[in-house]
Amino acid sequence: MSDHVTVAEAIDAVRRWQRTIAEQRDDLTELDSVIGDADHGTNMARGLDAVIHKLDESTPATFADLGKLVGMALISTVGGTSGPLYGTLFLRFGTTGGAATEIDTAGFGAALRAGVDGIVARGKAEPGDKTMVDALIPAVDAWDQAAADGVDAAAAAALAAAQAGRDATIPLVARKGRASYLGERSAGHLDPGAASATMLISAIRDAVVTA
Ligand code: ADP
Ligand code: MG
Repeated sequence: MSDHVTVAEAIDAVRRWQRTIAEQRDDLTELDSVIGDADHGTNMARGLDAVIHKLDESTPATFADLGKLVGMALISTVGGTSGPLYGTLFLRFGTTGGAATEIDTAGFGAALRAGVDGIVARGKAEPGDKTMVDALIPAVDAWDQAAADGVDAAAAAALAAAQAGRDATIPLVARKGRASYLGERSAGHLDPGAASATMLISAIRDAVVTA
């Protein structure tokens, strides 16, 4: 049972997230075409391409370095709302992870939570507003609750919670972002940001599992 996450695993998670987003780009854009402006997939794919370019140039040595690299690349290349929000997640994650090259399971959960708290501070979305927060908050809660059982258990619990939170956005009426302009008509559709956020948690799970 692994009880820590290394920077190398965290870098692998970011690379996996980029591959999934590239593969699912059109599906994410399709989701955003229904309740937004049809750019979430292209926004995220562009931002993560820039991240991979930076990672290919230099390998971050610490969580702080990784968070800064990913956060800055997303903020500077993604035009949509999601770029600064995900960028904030990574900047805060890095600040909390700090100069370490590995952190224990609970510490990794705390770094993720700091990142999610950063999204909430910046975007002011509450649970139930039909945003990425609806996948991310349950995920970090589940990670914390299972952290004592090791990384594999925490990551599996976080992914299940993210998926449930993502799917639970379908009936919700959006209260933040462009989808909120639709009012009641936003109900009945999955939130694109909750989908891309679940892909991040899935990438983390795949990168940290030992089995
Ligand atoms: P834009 O809405 O500017 O076109 P994107 O399409 O890339 O940006 O991202 C849309 C996603 O961003 C939404 O599906 C939602 O999950 C998320 N989002 C929008 N506003 C907020 C907010 N205030 N807080 C958290 N997430 C938000
Ligand atoms: Mg959009």
